[in-house]
Amino acid sequence: MRIPFVAGNWKMNTTVTEAERLVIEMLEKLDRVEGVEKVLCPPFVSLVAINMMLHGSSVKLGAQNMYFETKGAYTGEISPLMLRELCEFVILGHSERRWYFGDIDEIVNKKVKAALANKLNPILCVGERLEENEAGKTEEVINRQVTAALNGIEPAALSRSSDEVAKDLIIAYEPVWAIGTGKAASGEQAAATIQFIRDVVAKIWNETIAQDLRILYGGSVTSANIAEFISHPEIDGALVGGASLKAEEFVGIVEQTAEIKKRIK
Ligand code: PEP
Repeated sequence: MRIPFVAGNWKMNTTVTEAERLVIEMLEKLDRVEGVEKVLCPPFVSLVAINMMLHGSSVKLGAQNMYFETKGAYTGEISPLMLRELCEFVILGHSERRWYFGDIDEIVNKKVKAALANKLNPILCVGERLEENEAGKTEEVINRQVTAALNGIEPAALSRSSDEVAKDLIIAYEPVWAIGTGKAASGEQAAATIQFIRDVVAKIWNETIAQDLRILYGGSVTSANIAEFISHPEIDGALVGGASLKAEEFVGIVEQTAEIKKRIK
């Protein structure tokens, strides 16, 4: 049984004060929703404050990025050791990191390895760009990104069982052309690519891990279209950007995910 999962990626939005206010607006309602793992990913500077605010609630915390070394002379970077005191999850390989900050496949791979080695759960993002989609290269790109990100990661080497690996890693399929554009993929498109990702993972590791692994859709998800995605059994939840900055919207997305997944179970 894969537990549905919804994460809000606040990106480079909210000051600490604004982040605290947003948490106050949504926490009680989010906390009440059962059957969905709920995660907030605010900017680094708000992690300490929000970690304290979430204490005792069912809402979990994630970071938006990290460096792959644990400590040292890497001015301006944040390490897995620092993050693991504060949060359980870390978004890695987000397309904005890949395209604006040079996080190429090899770097994403090092980050995924470092996160797992330091007991942080990676939310690994993969997705094709518009021109790749239009050229019919979606599967080629996704295969390359997933294979590269998981390269050299052996469940046994991580001292984890297949179950644990599947629990620790989350993959988010985020077509770049759908992120922040208001132009979401269709439920069918997203479900088909997510099935493809599962097949790729089965080839890399095995069918058990692939079946247990949670795979999300991300890209212009709102409370108005979440049902289209979540009603596909293949899609285990959503990574939400813009709509996660509005308390009512994000709560609506999480509530609908819980209701729909309960119904189709
Ligand atoms: C994201 O940044 O991961 C994302 C999916 O953004 P948006 O929901 O705004 O498209």
